[in-house]
Formats: sequence, C-alpha cells, structure tokens
Amino acid sequence: ASELEQIVRDHVHETPNFPSEGVLFRDFTPLFADGPAFKRAVDLMCEQIDAEGGVDVVAGIEARGFLLCSAIGYRLGAGVLPIRKAGKLPSPTVTETYSLEYGEATIEIRDGFLRPGDRVLIVDDVLATGGTMVAAASLLRRFGAEIIDSWVLFELLDLHGAKALADNEIPYKSAWA
Ligand code: 5GP
Repeated sequence: ASELEQIVRDHVHETPNFPSEGVLFRDFTPLFADGPAFKRAVDLMCEQIDAEGGVDVVAGIEARGFLLCSAIGYRLGAGVLPIRKAGKLPSPTVTETYSLEYGEATIEIRDGFLRPGDRVLIVDDVLATGGTMVAAASLLRRFGAEIIDSWVLFELLDLHGAKALADNEIPYKSAWA
C-alpha cells in the first residue's frame, strides 16, 4: 500500500449496521483528530493533484468534505467552497437534485462565487454510488467551472462509483479502496 493508503486505513473507525442494517459505516474522525497523520495525508493528497494550471477553488461536500477542503485549499493557496445540503444557505443559491436508492437529495452552493473557467477540485470523505459527486460536478459545471480532479479518502468498490464518475468525465482519486 502507498503511504497515503496506509495512513487512511490506520485511521478509520468502522461501525456495522450504521446508519441502517447491512451498512458498514466508515468514520474518519481518527484521521482528522490525529495532527501528524492528518497533516501527512493532506500533504500527500496535495502532492498528487495535477495542479500545473493551478487550482482556483476546492469544493467540499457536506459535512466531512468541509474538513478536507479547508486543509487542502489552504495548502494549495486556493479558495474553498462548501457544497451544502439544501436549506442551509441564504439566497441566492443554485441547486442540484439527484436520486438516491430511496428518494432524492438536493445540494446547493451560493451563487456568485464561481467564474467560468475556474479550476475546481472536489473533495469528500467517501465515494459510494458516486451520485453525490456526479451531482456536485454538474452543479459546479453549470457555472462554467472545470473539474480538474476530485479526491476521496475511501471508495466502496462494490457500489461502482468509479463508473458513474467515468460516465460523467469526472477525474478522481481515492486514497483507499
Ligand atoms: P454516494 O452519493 O456516492 O452514494 O454516497 C457518498 C456520500 O455518502 C458521501 O457524501 C459520504 O460522505 C456518504 N457516505 C456513504 N457511505 C459512507 C460511509 O461509510 N462513511 C461515511 N463517512 N460517509 C459515507
């Protein structure tokens, strides 16, 4: 395993049957709470971003993506933009609704802070079906942003998020699969 994968694997807390029966929930509080491990993981993630043309904005998906986007954005000298669950931001906002296994979900960002051509990196803790990441990318692309890469700590291979991202031409990296 790479050094980054090893750090991430060593700093996860796994809970069976949470939040529902049959789900093994991965919680990365142990990584965020460990200063040297978190710093090293963020540094290694930043080193692997192909930032030749620069990164203007790091967009983080609520809520654990916020922890990553702030650290990565600071390290890259980029802005950070929270992608929030609907109903938390004052207007004007732009929203994107997507389907879940049961029902649907809506995410949104504040309007007026992305410019056409902005080079955006998206981050989240876990990639499952990829539905959230695809919705985030299409929301950001509506502003003319270019998704230069995306990063997750962990990818659930069984749910084929990689295919959903490939079908939507979203580049991504996972620290651990
Ligand atoms: P997807 O849209 O890819 O199906 O689900 C990804 C979203 O669900 C992410 O925002 C992620 O935070 C959350 N998620 C799904 N499974 C897990 C998990 O096991 N642990 C954590 N922390 N988040 C999860």
